[in-house]
Amino acid sequence: MLNGDIYDVVVIGGGPAGYVAAIKAAQLGGRAAIIEKGNMGGTCLNVGCIPAKTYLKNVEIIDELKNGNRRGIILDSSSITIDISKLKGFKDEVVTTLINSVVGLLKNNKVDIYKGVGRLVSNTHVSINDEDIIEGKSIILTGGSKVSKINIPGIDSNLVISSDEIFNLNDIPNTLAIIGGGVIGVEMAVAFSAFGSKVFIIELMDRIIPTMDQELSNGLLDELTKRGIEVYTSNSLKKIIEQKDKLHLYLDSGENIIVDKALLSVGRVPDLEALGNLNIKNEYGKIKVNEYMETSIPNIYAAGDINGLKMLAHAASRMGEIAALNAMGDKVKFNINNIPTGIYTNPEVASIGLTEDEARKKYDIVVGRFNFVGNGRALTSAITKGFVKVIADSRYGQILGVHIFGPSAVEMINEAAVLMEMEITVYEVGQIIHGHPTYSEALVEACLDCIGKSIYIPRA
Ligand code: FAD
Repeated sequence: MLNGDIYDVVVIGGGPAGYVAAIKAAQLGGRAAIIEKGNMGGTCLNVGCIPAKTYLKNVEIIDELKNGNRRGIILDSSSITIDISKLKGFKDEVVTTLINSVVGLLKNNKVDIYKGVGRLVSNTHVSINDEDIIEGKSIILTGGSKVSKINIPGIDSNLVISSDEIFNLNDIPNTLAIIGGGVIGVEMAVAFSAFGSKVFIIELMDRIIPTMDQELSNGLLDELTKRGIEVYTSNSLKKIIEQKDKLHLYLDSGENIIVDKALLSVGRVPDLEALGNLNIKNEYGKIKVNEYMETSIPNIYAAGDINGLKMLAHAASRMGEIAALNAMGDKVKFNINNIPTGIYTNPEVASIGLTEDEARKKYDIVVGRFNFVGNGRALTSAITKGFVKVIADSRYGQILGVHIFGPSAVEMINEAAVLMEMEITVYEVGQIIHGHPTYSEALVEACLDCIGKSIYIPRA
């Protein structure tokens, strides 16, 4: 039933793309509505970034406690155990705080919130739970993504879980297999290994985190191995058999792993429930958009994971903002370059721009590097593993890619984003005075190493 409400912008999906789009449209003076079928905040707040980082902070604390003795911190007990119910409870508190703050911001901006499944019924009308219909001069699809499945025998076992369930486990499995060695897979491997599980990773490609720079894969593999995580690369899972509360995983290499639980983390696919019967162009299930976030149908935009351009929360939020700006009459392009990626293992992994292999194919490059073992702050923290690697164009010194494995990598990569976005060259970075002692000094030295001018790297 048409409820008579006409909005400038109707947003379907309340994740980082959706709530930012709705707030932006309202800030620009538009009447905005948002429809969410689950909890506000989407994957990121409820079952993604925030729960994962809450769990991974525990890894950092455990590692620090274990290393404390060397620097004179004496603990009474020699063993560290995790009360997973308590950790889950803490995670829930964090998630609730953030959801409330998003809902508060939406209300503060006078965005109307509808609970239910939103579905397009035309290019200007959206049904809610197939009942009420609201009208929008523009509609922004921000339905995000859902867990991708693989079709192998046994995958439907209850002991095979996804990232949607892992943060609600009440027991730490003794043994855990992780199917997929991408970002989510390696983060969960490090978390559960630190919590006491024996962890196995099965990865189809010849290396973990295969889309990132080879040296990051190598560094992280070394770290995972040191933690006792067994990694099976160039390997695919053929079938799973559940027997007496155990999973038997059969790999194509002929190996057989027996575990209590398996986490399926082979990627995510767009959630297209909002499309209804409208024929919006998509490619392999990803809604096709141009750089203005416009779909093939006028007035309808798609932002965030649903278009598959870059499945990251901060990219989703920027796309949501761009869609809202354009829906409200602007003409702004989404810049897909210079989007940082972070992995919150310990040490962390972060990356932006081209990998060395990609850069070599396109440009004449120089590569600079600085190892954290030569960085004062890293030494004081006793976290000296890792490096900063900078890839620059050999002619002008333009920074093409930065790859960091080490302490605070996911914070430092934002500085690299600024340098790259502002087109600051490796020649200029040395003129920007950085505080001392900081991890970021390693970034400066890696930039200077590109042109042979690092003070702290001994001459060859
Ligand atoms: P989503 O967050 O998926 O939100 C979409 C929302 O739309 C959902 O709430 C859904 O219920 C709703 N919806 C869908 N269809 C409808 C409909 N028809 N009607 C009403 N509502 C609908 N990214 C990072 O940048 N950093 C990280 O550290 C990070 N860690 C992650 C860890 C894990 C375990 C996972 C799973 C993901 C992680 N991500 C991370 C990815 C990040 O969560 C997503 O890129 C981001 O949430 C995408 O935002 P979105 O708004 O496009 O979609």
